[in-house]
Amino acid sequence: MYILNVAIDVPLYKLFSYNHVSKLAIGTRVKVHFATKEVVGFVLGYEQDNALHNLKPILEVYPEILDSEVLQLIRFCSQYYHYPIGQTVMQAVPKYYRQTEIINYKFKQPRNVIVGENIVNVVILNKEQQYIVNNISQHFNEFYPSLLYGITGSGKTEVYMELIYNCLLNDQQALVMVPEINLTPQLLERFINRFPTVNIKIMTSQVTNRERLKAYVEAEAGEANIIIGTRLSIFTPFKNLGLIIVDEEHDLSFKQNDNLRYHARDLAVFRARIANCPLVLGSATPSIETLYNYQQGKYHYYKLSNRANTNAVLPTIKIVDTNIYSDKAGLTSVALEMLNECLKNNELSLVFINRRGYAPIVCCNDCGYVVTCANCSVNMVYHSVTRDLKCHHCGVSNDIPKYCPQCNSTNLSAVGLGTQKIEELLKKQLPHARVYRIDQDTLVSKKSWIELYKKINNHEIDILIGTQILAKGHDFANLTLVICLAIDNGLYSHDFRSSEYLYAQLTQVSGRAGRSDKKGTVLLQTSNPNHPIYHYLFNNDFNGFVNEILAKRYVLQLPPYTYYAMLRVSGKSMNKVMDCLYQVAAIHVNDKDIVVYPPLPAIIQRLKNKERGQLLITSINRDKLHRYIDLIQFQLQHKIKPKQVSWLIDVDPFEL
Ligand code: ADP
Ligand code: ZN
Ligand code: ZN
Repeated sequence: MYILNVAIDVPLYKLFSYNHVSKLAIGTRVKVHFATKEVVGFVLGYEQDNALHNLKPILEVYPEILDSEVLQLIRFCSQYYHYPIGQTVMQAVPKYYRQTEIINYKFKQPRNVIVGENIVNVVILNKEQQYIVNNISQHFNEFYPSLLYGITGSGKTEVYMELIYNCLLNDQQALVMVPEINLTPQLLERFINRFPTVNIKIMTSQVTNRERLKAYVEAEAGEANIIIGTRLSIFTPFKNLGLIIVDEEHDLSFKQNDNLRYHARDLAVFRARIANCPLVLGSATPSIETLYNYQQGKYHYYKLSNRANTNAVLPTIKIVDTNIYSDKAGLTSVALEMLNECLKNNELSLVFINRRGYAPIVCCNDCGYVVTCANCSVNMVYHSVTRDLKCHHCGVSNDIPKYCPQCNSTNLSAVGLGTQKIEELLKKQLPHARVYRIDQDTLVSKKSWIELYKKINNHEIDILIGTQILAKGHDFANLTLVICLAIDNGLYSHDFRSSEYLYAQLTQVSGRAGRSDKKGTVLLQTSNPNHPIYHYLFNNDFNGFVNEILAKRYVLQLPPYTYYAMLRVSGKSMNKVMDCLYQVAAIHVNDKDIVVYPPLPAIIQRLKNKERGQLLITSINRDKLHRYIDLIQFQLQHKIKPKQVSWLIDVDPFEL
């Protein structure tokens, strides 16, 4: 008899033992009894043992076996993020794998892939691009990580596609990871045009479970040649993975902020190492972590310093001080004039509103009360189309209250600068302009993107108004003016990374301007024009900006010079949450390299009806930090055993 050790979807840091007459391959999907249920598990170990153990038997053996490379990644992930192994496996596989049913999946007739055929839109690479492609292509079949730093529009995507082409010629597969918001129909179309006879599959949280399964299975069988996906695609099995690309590697969406709190870019480095393949981390504003790794000699470095379209140059940055040019309504007179000028020239402009931590709220004009969500400690956001209030955290919507709950006044109104408010203002100030507003509320489907592009190409729009959703990835040829509003919010934050985020975001959105023959202009409206970040943006001096940040981080001993982990506790009662945190904080630390900060309520203290608290632990030594987390976990499970709260560890946290 054999004892099989099986990973099951439960929040426990161990495997469970079952009996079976034979051994099974590591990674085999099985059905077992657990508690009173029949559940799916994955065999992660076995030993031969003829002694009688009262173990339950394996109920069913399914044909699926997890790919060994993916398994290695899962084990690493479970260890590094201190997340239960069974739950890690379940996060990594498609939903069908988690169900106690036979997976019916039939391949279509495999296609004949002829890479070189039918390519219509091949761009002739410029010298810089060709140099990069040639260099990286010499390192297929070895671990070769590089940072590709290229300003917006410098032709990074063309470099990716040429590298993928070479990878396919080697009969290998490519994984392209992009932020969710960047996977636009336009990008997909570029790939399809470039590789018309190649099997390209999409893997995002947006695709159906069936489609995800299909992409997963086809990649595993070597049928899918290119997988384009968001962070979860890092867990895709490949028959012969030859190249990994992480586009916009600095993007926050690569970090998952619930359950398994992994960072897909960091996992991509591990994956490329075990797959023995080149990895390209591309960005116009690489993350501080990646730049630091490069400085440490961990990555190769390639740079694209000019816009690929030789007529297109980087836009001119202008800064307008809102203290001088009053902007009571949100737009300065300077901005309005420039919009008007653009309108006269029949050019497209974009008004970008940074909504990070900023949205219209409803408040009482008599006592200052602001309407907050009953489940979460955040302000409700006013939506003028539906004329109601929505919580952007839990999704609850409510009518606007008739009376102030605090002072009974009826004098309630919406304040703040939202896209809708700017739309109303522009329609009043520039009545001839055809204004088109886009944000998550108005634009969700692929069809509406296609319609938007059509409208823009037919010159049916003069001014676009939008948020983050418009900042990235889009290529509107006639766009010459970008006006950025409410950007200062990004400066006043508790988060030490906030100016880095703001720099990346403004660079991204500025990069939309002047992508073809007409030179672009970007106007930044700020009440803080002397802030150093605007100086660096104005001079397009990303290196200077990064050096300043790294110097500050060094002095303050912040990441990447130290390592962070956050213990997050939540529950119905704040007392119980804090009590748990204080017990952990009291665990004796016998090492000056470990710093445990005092417990604190989370920034959003109440979320979806749960109170939340956190404990920050830092160390200059990564291994020591991990050993200390092990100790905390042990104490939580076996000594503290907190009641009515749940806890988790967030390694390399981004939410502080
Ligand atoms: P990035 O990914 O760096 O933003 P893209 O690859 O999207 O840049 O390129 C920006 C624009 O320049 C695109 O319209 C692209 O087709 C064009 N382009 C890229 N490389 C070249 C090239 N070598 N010659 C001509 N046009 C190019
Ligand atoms: Zn009031
Ligand atoms: Zn809420």
